[in-house]
Amino acid sequence: MARGDAVRAAPLRVLVVEDDDGIARSMARGLQRAGYVAQVVGTGEAALAAAPADVVLLDLGLPDMDGVEVCRRLRMRSDAVIIVVTARGEEGDRVVALDEGADDYLVKPFGLAELLARIRAVLRRVTPSGSVVFAHGPVSVDPRTRRVTVNGAEIALTPKEFDILECLAADPGRVVTRQELLERVWDANWYGPTKVLDVHIAALRRKLGVDGLVETVYGRGFRLGDLAAGGPQPGAAG
Ligand code: CA
Repeated sequence: MARGDAVRAAPLRVLVVEDDDGIARSMARGLQRAGYVAQVVGTGEAALAAAPADVVLLDLGLPDMDGVEVCRRLRMRSDAVIIVVTARGEEGDRVVALDEGADDYLVKPFGLAELLARIRAVLRRVTPSGSVVFAHGPVSVDPRTRRVTVNGAEIALTPKEFDILECLAADPGRVVTRQELLERVWDANWYGPTKVLDVHIAALRRKLGVDGLVETVYGRGFRLGDLAAGGPQPGAAG
């Protein structure tokens, strides 16, 4: 079952972190017209609390937090493309932000065409196929090649294990119900024993070897755990 196709067909989500309402609104309008799903937040705090995005456009001059710090913390938790937006005179911040994991930068004022071109260019560079690679803590999942790596080392998964991980990684933090996993990974009308899911989850955890990565939410389902609290645990036994 080509789960990756369904995921790739979804529009890319862009998080606009910008405290100037006028700029934020016009960026969001332009992005939406170009086919992206845009969300706007005006503070660093809100950026860190926002739903995962594929691309983050991060203004470095934010009212509540140092934009470079926001960049660093975003990079720790996700592999989203981060393009920092700076005003003239903030060249120093821009360099630091690139060191902290930003993928590219834009200098204000910039036009919509330049913004869109920059997003496309960075996406091409990050994912040559144009597909989205999901990353969560030390784990990255590439739906196109069906490769999974943990701390850069490739892990061999069975097709079912991969499909389960892909469902979870597509939206880390969201609880995916047992029924949803059975329907998406096995069959739209799965009436067999649900124990089969637990067996595959156990094998997946063992192979990934990252404590707390695949969490059981009792009575509901599974999700990828927030590893930021305890930090990544390379090579920890599952
Ligand atoms: Ca600003």
